[in-house]
Amino acid sequence: MTPRGVDEVVAAVDQAKNRGLRARMVGAGHSFTDVALTDGILLDPALLGGTAEIDADALTVTVSAGTTLHDLNLQLEDAGYALTNTGGGSAQTAAGAISTGTHGTGRGAPPGLRGRCRGRAPGGTTSC
Ligand SMILES: Cc1cc2nc3c(=O)[nH]c(=O)nc-3n(C[C@H](O)[C@H](O)[C@H](O)COP(=O)(O)OP(=O)(O)OC[C@H]3O[C@@H](n4cnc5c(N)ncnc54)[C@H](O)[C@@H]3O)c2cc1C
Repeated sequence: MTPRGVDEVVAAVDQAKNRGLRARMVGAGHSFTDVALTDGILLDPALLGGTAEIDADALTVTVSAGTTLHDLNLQLEDAGYALTNTGGGSAQTAAGAISTGTHGTGRGAPPGLRGRCRGRAPGGTTSC
C-alpha cells in the first residue's frame, strides 16, 4: 500500500490488525539486509515526503518520514544549509535512516536524527 498521509497509515495499520497481519512501513528498501521485508502488509512511503521545515535558530529541520535524503539535501542546499555528515548514497528515506542509525563516513559526528510519530491500532498515533 502507498498511503498519502498519517490518516491512511493509521487506516492501513487498522486494516492489518483486522486481518491478523502485521503492517511494516519501509523506506527506500536500500538496507543491505532483509529488514524491510514482510509477509504482512508493506507500506511504501513514496507519497509521504514533503517540504522540510527549517528552524534557523535551533539549526534543526523537520521532514516527513518518506522524504529521501536526496530531496532533503536539495532543500537544505536551497536554504543555504547542509547535513553535517552523510552516508555513501542519498536514496534512503529520513525514517529509514533514523530506524537503522545510518551514519556517514566523512569527518564529524553524524546529524542527530529523531523519529517522533507512529501509527497504532486501533486508529490513532503515538509519539516516541
Ligand atoms: C549502496 C549502499 C550504500 C550505503 N551506504 C551507507 C553508508 O555510507 N552509511 C550507512 O550508515 N549506511 C549505508 N547504507 C545502508 C542504508 O543507508 C541504510 O540501511 C538505510 O536505513 C536505508 O534506508 P531506507 O529508507 O532504504 O530504509 P529501508 O531499508 O527501506 O528500511 C530500513 C528499516 O527501517 C524501517 N522503516 C523505514 N521507514 C519507516 C517508517 N516510516 N516507520 C517505521 N519504520 C520504518 C523498515 O521497516 C526497516 O526495518 C548503504 C546501503 C547501500 C545499499
